[in-house]
Amino acid sequence: MPLRLYRGDLLLIAALLLPLAIAGPRLGWPPGEAAALLGWVGRVSGILGLAMLLVTAALSIRLPGLDRWFGGLDRLWWLHRLLGFAAFVLIMLHVLALGLVRVPAGVDVAVLTLFPPLSQLALWSGWLAWLAMVIFLAPTFQFFGRLDYQRWKRLHLLSAAALLLALGHALPLAGETWPWWLLGALGAGAIVWRKLLSPSLARHPYWVESVAPLARGVVEIALRPEGRALAYRPGQFVYLTPLDESLSAGRGEEHPYTIASAPHDLLLRVGIKDLGDASHALQTVSVGSRAMLEGPYGDFFAADYPQRDALWLGGGIGITPFVSAARGMAAADEGRGVQLFYLANGPDRAYYLEELTRCAGEVERFTVTAHFYRELGPLAESFLRHHCPDYAHREIYLCGPPGMIGHLRDLLDAQGVPAARIHCEVFDFL
Ligand SMILES: Cc1cc2nc3c(=O)[nH]c(=O)nc-3n(C[C@H](O)[C@H](O)[C@H](O)COP(=O)(O)OP(=O)(O)OC[C@H]3O[C@@H](n4cnc5c(N)ncnc54)[C@H](O)[C@@H]3O)c2cc1C
Repeated sequence: MPLRLYRGDLLLIAALLLPLAIAGPRLGWPPGEAAALLGWVGRVSGILGLAMLLVTAALSIRLPGLDRWFGGLDRLWWLHRLLGFAAFVLIMLHVLALGLVRVPAGVDVAVLTLFPPLSQLALWSGWLAWLAMVIFLAPTFQFFGRLDYQRWKRLHLLSAAALLLALGHALPLAGETWPWWLLGALGAGAIVWRKLLSPSLARHPYWVESVAPLARGVVEIALRPEGRALAYRPGQFVYLTPLDESLSAGRGEEHPYTIASAPHDLLLRVGIKDLGDASHALQTVSVGSRAMLEGPYGDFFAADYPQRDALWLGGGIGITPFVSAARGMAAADEGRGVQLFYLANGPDRAYYLEELTRCAGEVERFTVTAHFYRELGPLAESFLRHHCPDYAHREIYLCGPPGMIGHLRDLLDAQGVPAARIHCEVFDFL
């Protein structure tokens, strides 16, 4: 992730520091001796760790538009993971420091401080919160390998228990409790919205209008809004929940798909590649069946990026955000200097090439170049330079499989292209 501060980050920092600022006068600084310092570290890490846990929960809210305050949903999830991990480390430090500070009085005293009689509910509530964290964080950080996405999601619900137990630990021990009530309400509110309210309040009903095969294992589904259509920009994506009774898998499951249609299009289109059970079943979704859409999310072509000439590099199903943007430019008859490289294994896998070439014919200063891996191997710098001599000075957008993104990042890095000018969309949040 490029280092850049978004306006949402400032709110985040304020929320994280609030409980510490309120508790600050009671904590005392500077501590006189080493033992006091250890106790101070223990209390500060506990306050910061819990604030991070609650803010991490609040970040899971997933409200269309809010993600752009943080640079898009993938950056928001990245922050969510980063803060979740940091919260865990700080909570470990909290336990360790508060145990160590009692060691001079005797190891038994230290052990009793950490493991008091069961009647001390607040302390045991803290331990249970920690246990819940260990269980739901282990698969997130793949300590024991990767878990199936839906099972991972179910296990992640334990985070709600961790949050409540952690509050049960902090509230009886805190001097001022209102910052904890506030952050607790934000965290719990986000979980309640995500799990209970958003499925009925944030999803928009659509009908499957057509399913067009594009290549082996890839279809384009066109969806017609039942009521008000979603407003979106190129590069954004939706969560699609198919309700087709005849689906062999994935019925009622939400999955993210990038919008491939132009914003003014009456139908919303998504290109779907068979990558697993749910996307495989969608290849034969019934025309006339219902699907719920939630979004739009993402900020791939952010409006506040410099509006200089652009270089687009799309590969595999990662071509879809560029298809949306090209269709949009062709329909609005407005172009800016854009060179698109369509990276595909071969002509049979360049399923949007014909349409993109047609768009390029209609839009001034928009050109499309195909690059076929089976003929040419990985994209070489000389190929880029030959077709787009000023590529290194453009605003660069990448979307495609992880291997392709890694190769292109290395290539651009070797040419000294600043990371801030490279924008990347990943099709994998985990
Ligand atoms: C922002 C974004 C945009 C995407 N756009 C497209 C697109 O335009 N076209 C397309 O074909 N694919 C797209 N994908 C990928 C698509 O979401 C996955 O292929 C699909 O969810 C796979 O589900 P499955 O059950 O078929 O396969 P599974 O075998 O269940 O999953 C395969 C992999 O997909 C990921 N995945 C599965 N479910 C989800 C989920 N609910 N949320 C996030 N990731 C998940 C996991 O990393 C998993 O390992 C996009 C993904 C993201 C994150």
